[in-house]
Amino acid sequence: CGIVGYVGTQQALDVVLAGLRRLEYRGYDSAGVAVQTPAGDLDLAKKAGKLANLEKELAEHPLAEGTVGIGHTRWATHGGPTDANAHPHTGAAGRVAVVHNGIIENFARLRAELAERGRQFSSETDTETVAHLLAEAVEAQQAAGTEVDLAEAMRGVCRQLEGAFTLVATHADAPGVVVGARRNSPLVVGVGEGEYFLASDVAAFIEHTREAVELGQDQVVELSREGVAVTDFHGEPGEVREYHVDWDA
Ligand code: GLU
Repeated sequence: CGIVGYVGTQQALDVVLAGLRRLEYRGYDSAGVAVQTPAGDLDLAKKAGKLANLEKELAEHPLAEGTVGIGHTRWATHGGPTDANAHPHTGAAGRVAVVHNGIIENFARLRAELAERGRQFSSETDTETVAHLLAEAVEAQQAAGTEVDLAEAMRGVCRQLEGAFTLVATHADAPGVVVGARRNSPLVVGVGEGEYFLASDVAAFIEHTREAVELGQDQVVELSREGVAVTDFHGEPGEVREYHVDWDA
């Protein structure tokens, strides 16, 4: 439903929650956030119900500080509106966090294959399959001794997916990085001064920047401290549309 990602210098949690609040008009049944911690882990909170429920949870159990984060408000399609089905979803070891809008049409087959490989699921969502696939792809990079490339992992996962999706993910072993992907579902990049945003709608980041980049179909974007890199699902440089948001939000 609503998606926000952030890489920058501000507290990611504040930016992400404010962004989700901006998207609140869309209606949703649960909300969640994840941030990269200074210790090199991910810290995550998710809650059924309104954003206020999540904020109450965060007040009681604060997350670690961090300047890289993602967030989601969910409109359930696969699995009821519970805490467990709320996004972000993680791979088994909790090193990756994924949020998703849309539907992964072939998730049942992917899930069965993942289960056969020993992956354990903690939700009923189509989205969790993506989290496990992404975790596997990163583990394969690590096993091969190559540096973790989350965008490359995301491209490989996207090539296996059918359906409509906006995906945003972060991984504890890719510090300072948030990646996104889209097919038949919107994803916009916000370009600020030393900070970058991802959102399903520009309204989420308009109080920070009005410089936006609209991703094309079947593209993957990587946000890092160095900037924004866009490719197609095969790693070829992607064509995007840059624009200035001039309406008042
Ligand atoms: N299909 C996913 C789910 O049910 C994403 C729903 C959404 O677009 O918010 O969790």
